Amino acid sequence: MNKQEVLSILDQYGLSAKKSLGQNFLCNENVISDILGLAEVGPKSRVLEIGPGIGALSEELVSRCGKYVAIEIDTRFQARLEECIGKKGGKVLFEDYLSFSPDTVPDFVPDVILSNLPYYVMTPIMLKVMKDYPSCPRMVYMVEEEACDRIFGKPNSKQYGPLSILTSLYGEKEKVFRVDGASFFPAPNTTSAVIRIERGDSVFDPSWIGFVESAFALRRKTLVNSLSSGGKYGKDQILSALSHAGIPETIRSEALLPENFTEIYKFLQGRKDE
Ligand code: SAM
Repeated sequence: MNKQEVLSILDQYGLSAKKSLGQNFLCNENVISDILGLAEVGPKSRVLEIGPGIGALSEELVSRCGKYVAIEIDTRFQARLEECIGKKGGKVLFEDYLSFSPDTVPDFVPDVILSNLPYYVMTPIMLKVMKDYPSCPRMVYMVEEEACDRIFGKPNSKQYGPLSILTSLYGEKEKVFRVDGASFFPAPNTTSAVIRIERGDSVFDPSWIGFVESAFALRRKTLVNSLSSGGKYGKDQILSALSHAGIPETIRSEALLPENFTEIYKFLQGRKDE
């Protein structure tokens, strides 16, 4: 889909982009084709797309994959998406992904999740995807390039936090290429980046999400103070977990490696012998 086609679809359906919903539609065919290539979708793939918009990626995805489901918050796109997804055998649910329950689509477990993410809600969507689909083999996301620091941040850096830790625990992540603002309509002022996350063999436990978030609840405090402030774990318990893991009791969350969090969590759950 090029810019001319985007403009003509918007005109045909009487639509316009809503800034408040993070709507910047892809209008660069090379970028679209590179994203589709990264997704490696085949006839047996089950694809979940979050925020299909006016269908820049969707039409091709529906025709390439075995099963396709999209979740879009903006009901204004109904007629357009019926045309390019519904009529081709895909399904679109019109709701906020943050309120979506995977039970709504029984027997659908995606093996590829793809989204040109609405940037205002990037982190909550990425975290919820890991909670909803903890064993999905591949995710391909368009994100704001600036946000890559939060995704790829290293311990002791300012941006290191739940998103970098949890995506590391989820699998292998890679920033694959940058996308300039001119590849979208309307063009944002920022540069974007396409990232891919591939699941490893190890298990991802969705309860790590709340745990890691509570470890960062008081970012400037020690891990003990931050975790205990949630009321779920007492200071003594946390101190025992740290001592068990050989970690100093004054440590701050931002200094811990991803695997330190799972080790401490396991201890706190009383699963230290597993
Ligand atoms: N996929 C299209 C493309 O690449 O051109 C549109 C991408 S646009 C950056 C983000 C899309 O996410 C918009 O269609 C927007 O309406 C949708 N969206 C925003 N917030 C959402 C939410 N909470 N749940 C589901 N979709 C959302």
